[in-house]
Amino acid sequence: MTATVIDGKAFAANVRGQVAEHVTRLKEEHGITPGLAVVLVGEDPASQVYVRNKGKQTVEVGMNSIEHKLDASTTQDELLAVIESLNADPSVHGILCQLPVPDHIDGDTIINAIDPAKDVDGFHISNVGLLGTGQKAMVPCTPLGCLMMLREHHGSLSGLNAVVIGRSNIVGKPMANLLLGDSCTVTIAHSRTADLPGVVKQADIVVAAVGRPQMVPGDWIKPGATVIDVGINRIEKPEGGTRLVGDVDYDSCADVAGAITPVPGGVGPMTIACLLANTVTACCRANGLAEPVGLTA
Ligand code: NAD
Repeated sequence: MTATVIDGKAFAANVRGQVAEHVTRLKEEHGITPGLAVVLVGEDPASQVYVRNKGKQTVEVGMNSIEHKLDASTTQDELLAVIESLNADPSVHGILCQLPVPDHIDGDTIINAIDPAKDVDGFHISNVGLLGTGQKAMVPCTPLGCLMMLREHHGSLSGLNAVVIGRSNIVGKPMANLLLGDSCTVTIAHSRTADLPGVVKQADIVVAAVGRPQMVPGDWIKPGATVIDVGINRIEKPEGGTRLVGDVDYDSCADVAGAITPVPGGVGPMTIACLLANTVTACCRANGLAEPVGLTA
């Protein structure tokens, strides 16, 4: 293996440390405690784990955590009423509704009911538009985490060829917009891309966000490229049990790449750290205060 391992766990701890410093400053100098509200509908086990981790880390950085756990039978109107009450609450600076919501609720309607200034997931159509037009937005947490690690590793990203594999609204598209904002030449590849190996081979930066275990082998990677693996896939181990792997084949890619994020311990820990960063940013903007440097796009 030749690649530098980009340690997302350590990076995320550093981001949380910076967030905690800003929270202390907001409390001591302005008497403001940032508040993050998380709404969960139903009992999806994975969502419950995410929400628990978000609440725990929110409290650890000194912010208020507000949790609304609603029954799976909650109607769309009841959920909208909860969102409205959080929109109107000045002690709440960030709101997210854990996805997926049950089938009888329209996820887009719920996301677009969140006050865009409190939309710390960055999924509201206004924030999507602001990001797409290069304006100040709330930026989706996972791509923001990837961008922070790339900036730290490369310094300037200007002029680099970036290939994003995956065109989802929560990862692929916002990631491409962020890289474009940092003056990369960006290609978005997807399930219908012709000659995906040839496209990936051109990249100085590869961001894989596909959801297919170990799909990208080392011989697709240009020597020295930076590989950011967003995928989180659980696979069976030959000896029994399961383990987490990314969308890239770590061992063969690490032999060729200049730098690579592992799974677990790469992009994953950055997502909640960036959620906390977005909440502090939203709090500063809501109060007309200077926002943290280095914690936004
Ligand atoms: P998604 O299913 O919404 O999108 C997957 C994308 O991959 C699609 O745009 C599709 O066109 C593309 N794709 C599918 N098969 C392909 C193929 N054979 N070749 C090229 N492209 C192909 O997924 P998502 O929500 O963007 O998530 C992607 C992965 O990232 C998943 O493993 C998910 O678990 C993970 N994820 C991780 C985090 C994190 O915090 N680290 C956050 C979000 C998602």
